Amino acid sequence: MVSRLPINVPPASDEIAVSYLARLATLHDMPFDELWAQVSRPRSKGSPTRRLDGDLLATVADQSRAQLARTVVELRDPEPDWLAFRHEPQRGCRRCTARHPGGPVLQLLPHHRWVCTRHRAWIGPPDQEDHRQPDLHTLPEIVTAQHRHLRLIRRLGFAATFDAVLTGFLICAHRWNFADLAFPGDAWIEWRRRAELLIPPGTESDTFSTSRLFACTYPEAVALAELIGSLPWRRLVAAGPDGQRAFAIEIGRRLGVQDYRPAVIKDAVAHWMEQDCWRPPSPPNTDYRSLRTFGGPTFRKPSQDSDTKRRESALWFSRHRRGGDAILRHRTLNPVVVRDWSHKTEVFNVAVERTAHTYVDPRRHRTVKDLTALATTDWVRPDPISSTWLNTATEPLDWQRRTGPRPSTGGQPSPRK
Ligand SMILES: [Zn+2]
Repeated sequence: MVSRLPINVPPASDEIAVSYLARLATLHDMPFDELWAQVSRPRSKGSPTRRLDGDLLATVADQSRAQLARTVVELRDPEPDWLAFRHEPQRGCRRCTARHPGGPVLQLLPHHRWVCTRHRAWIGPPDQEDHRQPDLHTLPEIVTAQHRHLRLIRRLGFAATFDAVLTGFLICAHRWNFADLAFPGDAWIEWRRRAELLIPPGTESDTFSTSRLFACTYPEAVALAELIGSLPWRRLVAAGPDGQRAFAIEIGRRLGVQDYRPAVIKDAVAHWMEQDCWRPPSPPNTDYRSLRTFGGPTFRKPSQDSDTKRRESALWFSRHRRGGDAILRHRTLNPVVVRDWSHKTEVFNVAVERTAHTYVDPRRHRTVKDLTALATTDWVRPDPISSTWLNTATEPLDWQRRTGPRPSTGGQPSPRK
C-alpha cells in the first residue's frame, strides 16, 4: 500500500532518480529507505534486490507518468542513446536547478554539455561535486565554444564528436606541458591567461579544480575537434605527406603556432596521425545504463580520495602553472589515453606519455642525444595507409561497439607531485 506525498515537487530535467527521491525524502522529513520501499519492487519474484517502479513513483510523488518519462533519467521513454551520456551523474548548472528544493540536484548530462549558455556558467566534466561553478562573463570564448561543440554534434554525430573533443583536450594538455616558448597568438598564452582568471595565482588550494583547467583549453579543444572528427581530414592525413602538411598547417593555425611541424616525440598530433586517424573513434569506457546500480537505491559516487588528489594537483599547479598533467590524468580523458589498440602497459602514467610519441625503433635510437634530436625531427609517413574502415565510413559515424571486454587501462592515474 502506498500513499501520496503531501508536497508536490516535480523532478528537474535529466535528474537521476536517487537525487529526486533524496529531495522528496528531505522535504517530507522521512528516511530515504522508507520512501524507497514505497516506490520500488523486487526485481524478480522473491529477489532481495529492488528496482525503481515508475508507476509507484508517479503515484507517490503525484506526477504524471509522462512527466517522469521526460525528466527522470532511469524512466526516460524512449530510452536515450546511453553512450552519448556520461556514466557519472553531476551537479548541472546551479542557477538552472535553483528552483528545485530539498537539496542538491544530481543530473546525468550528455558528453557534449560543458557550459550553461543561458547563464554563462562552466559545468565541466563530473569533478568536485561541491565546487563553485565559474562564471564565464569575462571568458566569452568558452561560451562560444559550447555553441561550436553543439554544431559539431549536428554535423558529425555523437560518436565522432565525443572522440574528437577528448582528443582535442589531449593535444592541448600535452602542448601545455611541453611548450617552453610561446609566441604572440599562441594558444598557450591564452590558457595561462584564462587560468589566471579561473585559478588566480596564490589561491590554488581553494580555487583549483581539474574541471577549470578543462575550461581553460575548451575553445582550442573544440577548434581541433572540428578537424579531428572530420572524415575528409582523416582521409587526407592517411593519404600521405601532402595531406599531413595541410593538416599540420591547419592545426598550427588553430593553436596559434606558426610553421607548426609535427615532431617524432613529445607531440600528440603526430601520435594521432600515426596511430589513430585511420581507425574508428573511441567510444566511452562504459555508460550509465550498463552500471549495476541502474534503477537501484544508490549510484556510483566519485572516488573518495578525490579531494586529496585535487590538493596534490593544486600544489603541482601552483608551482608550475601548467595544467596539462592534471587534464591528462583526469578520468574524463581515459577513453582516448588508452584506446583499444594502444600498446598494453601496466602503468597508467606510461600510457599517458605514449600518447605524445610515435613509433621509434629502439635499436636505432638509444642515447639521450638521439632522443633529444627526435623532439625536433619532423614526423612524416611517406606512404598512404590502407584502412578498410576509413575507406568505407560515412558521416555521421555510428558508435564503434565493442564485441569483447575493454583492454586493461593500467594502474590508477596518479597526480604528479
Ligand atoms: Zn543555467
